[in-house]
Amino acid sequence: MSSATTIIEPTKQKSGRSEIQRIFDLQKENQFEVANTSASQRIAKLKKLHEAVLKYRSQIKEALHNDYRKHPSEVDLTEIYPVTSEIKHVKRDLKSWMRGEDVKTPLAMMGSSAYIRYEPKGVVLIISPWNFPINLTFGPLASAIAAGNTVMIKPSEMTPHASALMSKIVKEVFEEHEVALLEGGVETSTELLKLPFNHIFFTGAPSIGKIVMKAAAEHLTSVTLELGGKSPTIVDETANVKLAARRIAWGKYVNNGQVCIAPDYAFVHERQMEAFIGEFKKQMKTFYTEDASSEPSYARIVNQKHFKRVKSYIDDAIAKGATIEAGADLDDSQDYIAPTLMTNVAKDSKLMTEEIFGPVLPVYSYTNIDSVIEQINAKEKPLALYIYSKKQSNIKHIIHNTRAGGTCINHNAAHFYNTNLPFGGSNNSGIGKAHGFEGFKSFSNARAVFKQHIPNALDLLTPPYDNFKQRLIDLTIKWF
Ligand code: NAD
Repeated sequence: MSSATTIIEPTKQKSGRSEIQRIFDLQKENQFEVANTSASQRIAKLKKLHEAVLKYRSQIKEALHNDYRKHPSEVDLTEIYPVTSEIKHVKRDLKSWMRGEDVKTPLAMMGSSAYIRYEPKGVVLIISPWNFPINLTFGPLASAIAAGNTVMIKPSEMTPHASALMSKIVKEVFEEHEVALLEGGVETSTELLKLPFNHIFFTGAPSIGKIVMKAAAEHLTSVTLELGGKSPTIVDETANVKLAARRIAWGKYVNNGQVCIAPDYAFVHERQMEAFIGEFKKQMKTFYTEDASSEPSYARIVNQKHFKRVKSYIDDAIAKGATIEAGADLDDSQDYIAPTLMTNVAKDSKLMTEEIFGPVLPVYSYTNIDSVIEQINAKEKPLALYIYSKKQSNIKHIIHNTRAGGTCINHNAAHFYNTNLPFGGSNNSGIGKAHGFEGFKSFSNARAVFKQHIPNALDLLTPPYDNFKQRLIDLTIKWF
């Protein structure tokens, strides 16, 4: 078999402290060489990554099937395409991003000019999660390379096949003094986090984001934190219920609900509730048949730990009086939880106090949109908030009175695919942004460059101060 069709088995590789330090030192030594590369040199590197992702496309699919039975087409849509489209975006625009930006000169600073130069932060660390292992590792990597950094990567231990394959790809495409991937779990992350990186790009849970930020604070390392949370969905009285049900069912069950921007729970206007439940159940069957366990399009929960977590949320909701509208069948031998729809879920149940991150949708009916807004605002700011409506004033009212990292109107999760939009959360759902120019900027320092051409006002205002100079200062404050 050719190298592109050999299955890569997970390694038990753990990177110890000395190995981590060795690579860090190597990258630190090499950082200016990488930093001073031209746009075409960086694009050439990204082209190699792009080619490798396509070369290993079938192995990526196999790896993700082995990790949690993800369907190959879903791998294409949610792992391969986001990476190739991110790289294409960088290839298209990198030259203009690297050119920097000229800024205006205030009148008082006449005789000078100024511009912003985006320079690489230096040696950066990317820590990625398991739920879209390829996408959320190689996507940020594309931005970090575009910005001219050297990069150390720690993927998740929960998708070992994907991590082992990414390790092989990284070794094949890059020299370790520019990009290195270190497999391992929490202990590897912990070792890495002790080092004085110039930036850390972390994707994962808010609770772990706090650990990362605390460690970063030790070295005053800047961070981008791509976190999670509960993303609410509102279906108002004017929404096209059939379309809403179809899109919400897709957003909820793709990747088995293990999506940071999945619609976590839904509020449906009471006039639409019955129709919504009916349409949603129809969509569940259309997508996954009567028995999703035998439908190959339906992935599994990643492992027993997370299976038990989601099961405990369902059990807790049922114990507190929730109604199962559909699903809730479980098979722990294969980490299977059927696509599930629930109503009457107590607001204090785990399904509503924790991020679900699994194929369960709690739905509530509402009459008053302001009470919905109040309930949303009582929780942490979500990574995404979705609105299904045909009424502009409703959409505006909801957007203006809530906060979220991103919003889709009449869709969900689709904003991730538009790399012209900043992607990320706010406070508990994240700090900083990814994708396109925003991703490039996250991995760059916006260096302020000021150039004096002819004598300026400051030259006239040096000590010793006297009445004439004070008058000039007064005039400057008054008029400029
Ligand atoms: P996680 O936070 O458990 O793990 C993420 C990474 O952090 C892994 O590489 C893991 O090894 C490492 N890690 C775990 N515990 C650590 C610790 N104590 N110290 C240092 N490193 C540690 O997250 P996960 O379970 O892989 O992913 C699920 C979470 O990620 C969800 O909350 C989801 O919403 C969020 N997420 C966010 C985005 C986004 O773009 N905003 C995307 C995907 C997932």
